[in-house]
Amino acid sequence: MTTRPDRTDPASLGEATLSVHGGNSSVGDHGEGAAIRVPITMANSYHLPYDPSTMDWSNPEHLTYTRNTGVNQIALQDKLAALEHGEDALALASGVAALHAVFFTHVNSGDHVVVSDTTYEATYKLWTSLLPRKYGITATFVDITDLDAVAAAIRPNTRLIATEVIANPTTKVADIPALAELTRSRGVILMVDSTFTPPPLFRPLEHGADLVVHSLTKYVNGHGDAMGGAVIGRADLVEPIRAEAMVDVGGVISPFNAWLIMRGSVTLPLRLHQHQASAARLAEFLAADPRIAYVAYPGLASHPQHDVATRLFGERGSGGIMAFALKGDAAVQNRFVAALRVITSAVSVGHDESLIVHVGTSGPRVAAYPEPFREYGHLRFSVGLEDVADLRADLAAALDEALPHVAR
Ligand code: PLP
Repeated sequence: MTTRPDRTDPASLGEATLSVHGGNSSVGDHGEGAAIRVPITMANSYHLPYDPSTMDWSNPEHLTYTRNTGVNQIALQDKLAALEHGEDALALASGVAALHAVFFTHVNSGDHVVVSDTTYEATYKLWTSLLPRKYGITATFVDITDLDAVAAAIRPNTRLIATEVIANPTTKVADIPALAELTRSRGVILMVDSTFTPPPLFRPLEHGADLVVHSLTKYVNGHGDAMGGAVIGRADLVEPIRAEAMVDVGGVISPFNAWLIMRGSVTLPLRLHQHQASAARLAEFLAADPRIAYVAYPGLASHPQHDVATRLFGERGSGGIMAFALKGDAAVQNRFVAALRVITSAVSVGHDESLIVHVGTSGPRVAAYPEPFREYGHLRFSVGLEDVADLRADLAAALDEALPHVAR
């Protein structure tokens, strides 16, 4: 019997259909004459019932007050849960708000966590400064690809392991199923930041992760015009985060940003397909140029975790982000970036436009990076949706300008 697709039943829908319809039927009127999209609801408060006197004002199930929940937040959360194949999702103000929300809610004073030694800067800062200082939580940083080191770092009071799938900025790939194997038997929460690997590329929950975090600011929105973050996973883990980090502490997403991200996410699978196809071609192009010191991209056979990436992502791609450097000092890297005419020098990733940022060789985290990162610094390159021929020509021209004297 053929499965009948039904837009109110995410399980019956394919990737692209889900991205188009997910969350649209969650809230509001669907009768004749009603808008076929969830309209933006810029309201702080909702009409109360006849007798509100006994209401639980903080109940995130009730449309009462936008810090507890809102129409656009509900729609986005339903869509994210469907896209990640998760039971529940919580949308918050930013990716960092989402990371902090998980840590703040699920780790208590006196607990210990194991954190990948290569993550987005803010994760590192949270675990080296704010959380130990404020809450007395200790963190051990490990090479997350070294499973023996991860196992050895787990203590009786270890509550959580935090990693990214493809790490910002080195593109180190974590073996999520193997980490899940380690955490499951020890009752430790595995939290995976999947910002660089949004669905349909990878779904950490299907590989044993307990919680997935996204900076929605990046690929999920995809248009560089709104900030948001999300936590997705089992309801019994997400629900306390909603109560503590959103309702009580206030990290709520604005209705407008939730609406923008909902709209941006419609094209996520299509965009991701293009980002990845272009990134794979540009990584090969750069790697073949003798003026390039190194290219770190999980799709290249030279990548240290290429086999893990292939096992985890199959034919679905290797992401749209790479790190590389020219054979030269910081002045050379800066000259190269300044010579680019299509690719923009700016932070963030996963936007429609290609973004590049030159990161040098100083800073507390660089010691954990592979040798060429420490020697040359790196250019983190998020490949956008421009014509790949234009991007290649831009890179080639900038290379000639930055290193004109080197024979090819
Ligand atoms: N996680 C990763 C992997 C990131 O790259 C970023 C931002 O670059 C964040 C989390 C934080 O997201 P936001 O900037 O939305 O707070």
